[in-house]
Amino acid sequence: MFYNKELFKFTFKEQLVSRLGISVEEATAEDIYKILGSLIREYIGREWANTNFSYKEQKEKQVYYFSMEFLIGRLLGNNLLNLGMLKTVREGLQEMGWNLEDIEEQEPDAGLGNGGLGRLAACFLDSLASLGYAGHGCGIRYKYGLFEQKIINGHQVELPDDWLQKEYVWEERRADKRVEVRFWGNVEVSEENGRTIFKTVNYEKIWAVPYDVPIIGYGDSHVNTLRLWSAESAMDPSRIKVEVQNNYYNFLNYNRSVESISEFLYPDDSGYEGKLLRLKQQYFLCSAGLQSVLRTFEKLKLPYSELPEKVAIHINDTHPTLVIPELMRILIDDKGFGWDEAWELTTRTVSYTNHTLLSEALEKWPVKMVRDLLPRVYMIIEEINKRFCGMLLKRFPDRQDLVSQVAIIESGQLKMAHLAIVGSYSVNGVAKIHTELLKTNVMKPFYELFPERFNNKTNGITHRRWLMHANPELSEAICEAIGTDWIKHPHQLLGLKTFKDDPAFQDKIMNIKRGNKLRLAAYIKEKQGISVDPDSIFDVQVKRLHGYKRQLMNILHVMHLYNEIKDHPEADRIPRTFIFGAKAAPGYYLAKSIIKLINVVANVVNNDPQVSSKLKVLFLENYSVSLAEKIIPAANVSEQISTAGKEASGTGNMKFMMNGALTIGTLDGANVEMHEMLGDDNMFLFGLRAEEVLNYYQYGGYLAREVYKQDPRIKRVIDQLVSPGPFCCHEREFGMIYQSIMEHNDEFFVLRDFDSYTRTHASIDQVYLKPQEWVSKSIENIAHSGNFSSDCTINRYATDIWDIRPVRSSLHIRK
Ligand SMILES: *Cc1c(COP(=O)(O)O)cnc(C)c1O
Repeated sequence: MFYNKELFKFTFKEQLVSRLGISVEEATAEDIYKILGSLIREYIGREWANTNFSYKEQKEKQVYYFSMEFLIGRLLGNNLLNLGMLKTVREGLQEMGWNLEDIEEQEPDAGLGNGGLGRLAACFLDSLASLGYAGHGCGIRYKYGLFEQKIINGHQVELPDDWLQKEYVWEERRADKRVEVRFWGNVEVSEENGRTIFKTVNYEKIWAVPYDVPIIGYGDSHVNTLRLWSAESAMDPSRIKVEVQNNYYNFLNYNRSVESISEFLYPDDSGYEGKLLRLKQQYFLCSAGLQSVLRTFEKLKLPYSELPEKVAIHINDTHPTLVIPELMRILIDDKGFGWDEAWELTTRTVSYTNHTLLSEALEKWPVKMVRDLLPRVYMIIEEINKRFCGMLLKRFPDRQDLVSQVAIIESGQLKMAHLAIVGSYSVNGVAKIHTELLKTNVMKPFYELFPERFNNKTNGITHRRWLMHANPELSEAICEAIGTDWIKHPHQLLGLKTFKDDPAFQDKIMNIKRGNKLRLAAYIKEKQGISVDPDSIFDVQVKRLHGYKRQLMNILHVMHLYNEIKDHPEADRIPRTFIFGAKAAPGYYLAKSIIKLINVVANVVNNDPQVSSKLKVLFLENYSVSLAEKIIPAANVSEQISTAGKEASGTGNMKFMMNGALTIGTLDGANVEMHEMLGDDNMFLFGLRAEEVLNYYQYGGYLAREVYKQDPRIKRVIDQLVSPGPFCCHEREFGMIYQSIMEHNDEFFVLRDFDSYTRTHASIDQVYLKPQEWVSKSIENIAHSGNFSSDCTINRYATDIWDIRPVRSSLHIRK
């Protein structure tokens, strides 16, 4: 369809007339976006059907990636890129007077996730499709994604993210594929032909209706599916009539309560208000997802004993762990399997990724809630726990302590991570250090019981979105230097190493970075009216706001720089622009207070004529995938400064590296692996190591107050939080931040690492003074970043965990 520009323009204009009855001259940007989107949908429709058909014909093993979050961002640009139509469409639109970038801005940024975990799921889908694997996403179609953030008077204000307000061109409602999901009720037990039968009665049923989004692979017309479920009322018509006559408002309330199941995405730190609703969401995803998975499996007409050979179900963190007891329930109650066979099939089908070591993030549910909402599922969980604990006591008769440590149900709580490990055949961490800590600390007893289940799969990012789409100039320059093979084999970016000291290539890379910085500067000017110096160092920290990610340390360091400039206004300095972007969970008051502090500091720094030519601070509101794509290509310095041992992997770090930023970071998450590849010369390490942090937690010995007393620079910035001066208007404003450090002894070692951090920043200045040296390091970073392509990650999941191979594309089959 879009094979050449003229044909594209012709088809496009014709569609404008036939669908909207308007000419190109009359069309708005939104009209253009809609027509373009529906043209692509139509075009790939056949390939989509072909892909599904060939999976079925060849009885391919299917992978289903179950995740409560998919942070997919915008699809238009990436779909055009993957279809190989980007250039044709860009030029065609240009000739009709439109800029593709402006058209892309019309698309809502599908924010069905909080941060890294949801973005990982999205990168994985892109890699699965692009590598030709039969792998699909299974998630929830939240009516409201993560809130839209506005900064008003320096405070975060949350607005609903009504992303479906306008029609979403990529989804297709599949009402014919809806399934029933059941909550509540009582279990009746009876005997039939010597078999115990469990029947749930008096349950409430609702509909789960799937909306399918095509996931278009790069290059070879492979189209997988992201299936997102939406909750709808399932009252039968006769009852609706009665209900409406009785009480119309009750009826409306009922509908609303059903629809609320797929209404909101929970912020990651919601403190679990609405815990019951969150549990409903999790079961809704698992039950609906499984029914559709098994329906597809049954079309193969194979016995259920072959389920693990044809289906792999992967759970992204513990949120979808209920697939384990739910699959058991279906196999036992509906398919007639005995416990042992059902257990073997289930535990050969499900695999699990752990995403966090933070104890507050390990999911637990009150037993009573689960028992009431999901009575039969709870019975099965109880049985799994009973058998698991029984097996342990048989093996270790005198280890009651071990049993209570690893039990799935303990002290009235259901521990989801324990259920996930016991009920799956593979448990992976998301970076080497994280997996090691899982095995030696948090999940140690499980590792000792099931060492063969544990494995590492370091996270990755799709280089198609984060390099080719976000940074087309850099992508082009790479192709000119080393050809195009790296696009299919990203580790070949290593070929750039030969160019790192080539002056012509260095020049090109420097100019591209400068161009990206100018573009970001224009965006900042437009949004905030602030001019930033494109020759200053763009130093960026963008990610969710969390204590452990230590945005606080960053902004305290900026306050310290401000103090230095005020003390020595005559001193020469390399100008710096500090850029922040971060959403805080609505109930996380400390995090919100740090956002306010960043904005207060920005206001002071940017408006002080003595300072503002040397230092600027910006907080860009509403950090999201599309904003990340604007910011990251313009960064010189990437801040990856979490307290060592806390960041499972990080993926932001990889995006920056791929775009040629140099990292200042701790030895945490995937930074450790970056450092293995880059060495001390090409990144800036600082701070405590994970063992040191663990030691402090275990044996004490850290006193924040002592550091405060001994370092006058630190004392000054901490005092500036609560006493009159440039940053503080009234004592209580930043009292909570002050207390977190001085009263609660600085849980995340901000003061402990401050000196090391400050000195490392000073050494960054020294390198930046030598542009050739800087750009050479930058090229070294790009060259090694191919290792972090999610294509590599997905290939490892495919061979080590899922046991799947790429499928020949549907196109090849038809030929
Ligand atoms: C990559 C990404 C993240 C994760 O960033 P980290 O630095 O790894 O925490 C979060 N949000 C968005 C929008 C992203 O694109």
